[in-house]
Amino acid sequence: MADLIKKLETYCLELPYAQVVHFHSVTEDRGRYLIVRLVSENGAEGIAESVCRPAQTGDTTEELAADVAKHLEPLLLGADATEDGIYEAVADSGAPIAARAIVDVALWDLKGKILGKPAWSLMGPGPAAPVPVAWIVHGNSVQEQVEEAVKAIDVRGFSGLKLKTWKKSMEDVDMVRAVREAVGPDRVIWVDANGSYTPEEARAVFPHMAELGVSFIEDPCELKDLAEMAALARDLPIPVLGDKPCQTYDDARMLIESGASGAVSVKLRRTGVTEGLRIIDLAKDAGVSVVIGTDSESRIGSLSRIHMRASQPSMAPWPTETHFFGKLADDVFAGEFVFENGCISVPDKPGFGAGLDTAKLLRVAA
Ligand SMILES: [Mg+2]
Repeated sequence: MADLIKKLETYCLELPYAQVVHFHSVTEDRGRYLIVRLVSENGAEGIAESVCRPAQTGDTTEELAADVAKHLEPLLLGADATEDGIYEAVADSGAPIAARAIVDVALWDLKGKILGKPAWSLMGPGPAAPVPVAWIVHGNSVQEQVEEAVKAIDVRGFSGLKLKTWKKSMEDVDMVRAVREAVGPDRVIWVDANGSYTPEEARAVFPHMAELGVSFIEDPCELKDLAEMAALARDLPIPVLGDKPCQTYDDARMLIESGASGAVSVKLRRTGVTEGLRIIDLAKDAGVSVVIGTDSESRIGSLSRIHMRASQPSMAPWPTETHFFGKLADDVFAGEFVFENGCISVPDKPGFGAGLDTAKLLRVAA
């Protein structure tokens, strides 16, 4: 008999960072997270998490919780997480994108728990091998970036690196070269300009990185004109990875078909699992690479992304960006989280294998 959803709970949390974190748009000493918990009649639970950072995401945890309650709770109560219908109803609900995404992720966890299967096995063929993870390097000088890159590999134990490049000059090339020399030839490295270059600057600087083993150039310029971006992508010797312009399946299709992106970023905060898998399929058919981007996830959010990556052979060898657990001083994760040899293991448990530490949850509820 079907095990229907009988309850939806939301929790607004504040989780402290180990150190102050400087983002492009804001500096913070803690992150605000919304947890969604779906509970079935037989007591199975589906859990998902979303960071809310108004300067970046445009919403607060309270607003996101209100969107979930208003638009999605009425659809979810009495629904069956093992049936496709509820995923379609959530997608068609008209709810804001982040509300649809967090609920979709919680539904996939619940589906796995009800069916007694790890989530990866419901998403794709696997193999559910440990997933390599990349650290994202920020820093104000070449020296700072090299030091952080070396620490990420040697001390923190990450597998690959994404280097932020914003000097818009040969200084960025010198930084990448210094990091490459410090970490050796085999580490996956890509760069992210956060749209800060002009097309002229991009044509002048990025070709010098081709010999440094850079896998992608993420968002070299702000996307203003698709044809202009496609022309730039054709001129660069390294694939352009579309992140910010790739919010939805339709965006991904537009970027891939136009040639403006030779790789795309999937972030579960904007696509959930269901739409994310459609983008991965589209990219696979087009021969385009996909990287799972970071959503400042704690260990809870990490595991949903690790399951997705582990289910899709077409995503190898690229690391996921699910590094942010390394910046949080604490979270409300309960369960087994194995990070070793640069990789996060895929728990062989129903759903994502991420539980909630309920005592802690109540302590950090905002
Ligand atoms: Mg980016």
